[in-house]
Amino acid sequence: MKRTILFFFSLSGLIFTTYGQQSSGIKKIPIIDMHLHALWWGESSIVGPLGLKAPKDPAAMRDSTFYYLKKYNIVKAVTDDAFALDYFHHDPQRIIPARQGISPLLRDSVDSLRHWFQAGTYKLIAEFMPQYIGFRPDDPEMEAYFQVADEFNIPVGIHLGIGKAGFANFTIANANPLYLENVLRKHPNLRIYVMHAGYPFISEMIALMATYPQVYVDIAVINWVLPRKEFHYYLQRLVDAGFGKRIMYGSDEMMWPQSIPISIENIRSAAFLTDQQKENVFYNNAADFLRLSAEEIKKDKAQ
Ligand SMILES: [Zn+2]
Repeated sequence: MKRTILFFFSLSGLIFTTYGQQSSGIKKIPIIDMHLHALWWGESSIVGPLGLKAPKDPAAMRDSTFYYLKKYNIVKAVTDDAFALDYFHHDPQRIIPARQGISPLLRDSVDSLRHWFQAGTYKLIAEFMPQYIGFRPDDPEMEAYFQVADEFNIPVGIHLGIGKAGFANFTIANANPLYLENVLRKHPNLRIYVMHAGYPFISEMIALMATYPQVYVDIAVINWVLPRKEFHYYLQRLVDAGFGKRIMYGSDEMMWPQSIPISIENIRSAAFLTDQQKENVFYNNAADFLRLSAEEIKKDKAQ
């Protein structure tokens, strides 16, 4: 009997401790998603990686996305693609609208970007995707985009790394993070983050971040499509190299909103990170990068 009671108490203590850690250290903290897509690819993409199922139409997609944003206390989300402004009008406090500039589907004129930045319509260039249409970041044709971002102090999130197959001009060689060096030398004040942390180019990514302290990364998509062990290996390399303050959470939610909890859990479960380091990845680093005001940060942390 005594043993049963002891067992019960130690078990409830365990549950209480675990829950307490989550609620004080991790679960309640606000999250900034630096990489969210607002689109719906259609019937052909209903079943995604890991067997995840997509909502049945764009309206269900939006509802499901906002359900997860709220459930996980994602207080801000950099959001691009076709429905970015629709999502923004739905929840202007939470959604930061971004324009891709270059993607397989569009190529904005620099005049359009200038107009939108002047009007405040879009706050970032992201997800900028020269790699998907066959360009290195330092191709002369990309220069005007970095130029306009620099001119308006607009942050750029650039896709570098593995990607969705099936685009004729997509090559992995163009993902090498070192191809950003010429851009950074030309635009030393450019606020830029490398999406997917340039996976799998870890050495090149570390070399770039060590040399250019203004470069941040997001860990979107690699935090749910890769085997957890491989994602942890990559994340730990970046942290051990000293960049724990420049790694930002992103989901790369594109069609399967259940990817959001998976991507969060794969960071929470990283035993090599302290609660403080996790909080930096989930919120503080992005708040620094986006230059949120002390007032905004206070408001986010009160949620
Ligand atoms: Zn991407």
